[in-house]
Amino acid sequence: MNYGFETLAIHAGQDPDPRTGAVVPPIYQTSTYAQDAVGAPRLGYEYSRSGNPTRDALQECLAAIEGGRVGLAFASGLAAEDALIRTVCAPGDHVIIPDDAYGGTYRLFAKVAQRWGLTFTAAKISHPDAVRAAVRPGQTKIIWVETPTNPLLGIADIAALAGIAHETGALLAVDNTFASPYLQQPLGLGADVVIHSTTKYLGGHSDVVGGALITADAGLGAELAYHQNAMGAINGPFDGWLTLRGIKTLGVRMDRHCDNAERIAEYLTSHSAVAQVLYPGLSEHPGHETAAKQMRRYGGMISFRAAGGEAAALRICERTRLFVLAESLGGVESLIEHPGRMTHASVAGSALEVPADLVRLSVGIETADDLLADLEQALG
Ligand SMILES: *Cc1c(COP(=O)(O)O)cnc(C)c1O
Repeated sequence: MNYGFETLAIHAGQDPDPRTGAVVPPIYQTSTYAQDAVGAPRLGYEYSRSGNPTRDALQECLAAIEGGRVGLAFASGLAAEDALIRTVCAPGDHVIIPDDAYGGTYRLFAKVAQRWGLTFTAAKISHPDAVRAAVRPGQTKIIWVETPTNPLLGIADIAALAGIAHETGALLAVDNTFASPYLQQPLGLGADVVIHSTTKYLGGHSDVVGGALITADAGLGAELAYHQNAMGAINGPFDGWLTLRGIKTLGVRMDRHCDNAERIAEYLTSHSAVAQVLYPGLSEHPGHETAAKQMRRYGGMISFRAAGGEAAALRICERTRLFVLAESLGGVESLIEHPGRMTHASVAGSALEVPADLVRLSVGIETADDLLADLEQALG
């Protein structure tokens, strides 16, 4: 199929239901399936941990929109990460992670995987030389990157890191949650596997938690699928249905997220209450050129440092009216949060600690003027 992104988002895996003609894939809310004879399930479905038609529709769509061959949907982004780590790594192996990784990803490595025998190095993934220096040949199994990173909006050069990973026999895994496949397609740049928290832009409406792994490598895809079933952290049918429904509008939503974020980033840049704006779309952002090379646009996430320190950052977070004070991101509604005390509290005291004056915005798709007016009153 040579269809464009939006066509795939709406149709891939979503042919009308063969039995009823339903245009939208039904929610197959069933745990098990009748068999015509012993060991002869009708369409290959035996038990919904192993396979479910609603999940299959989502998985096929995820693979198509990321340009992969195998898509797998999990109960959450972290469940997807756990499945990836335990499929690819064994005790004694080593992984490189971003030195400003999502707090939950860091916690998974530091508090769970490490206890289980995995070692990791937090490296500056915006500097390919730093990543190369952190590789332990033969022991490093995954170079794990987020780009843009959460919450500092750092940019990693996916093609350059794929080169380093493949020279050293490691896999390049890219957490594409912040960009979404509409803005960035890591597999096409050489990544081996893409990770998503579908909770964010793919679901897009702050009403469902889910995760995904996508790969273009059929062998790796089969191993991951085996572990998805063996470990069991699958995406449920209703959650999968909500996520598929969200994906249909991903392209139009992302364009509006980007329009609004570009305006807000410009506005914040010239505000005296703001010390620094972190947005890859700004020409002064250190990752701007790399982002321009590998992203369609720059996304809906903006972080900024308050000029008045932590107290000022907290005050701004508590004063907005339209921007809801809440964790998470990627929904149609705008959110504001203080990473140091909220999403990234789990990295406090570690090398990944985030600045106390940092504020993170998930810019929604409301009327841009209303969002600007809300920030104006909150910063004033
Ligand atoms: C939210 C998030 C995750 C974790 O996903 P959950 O669905 O919350 O488990 C992983 N990576 C990034 C970049 C995220 O923002």
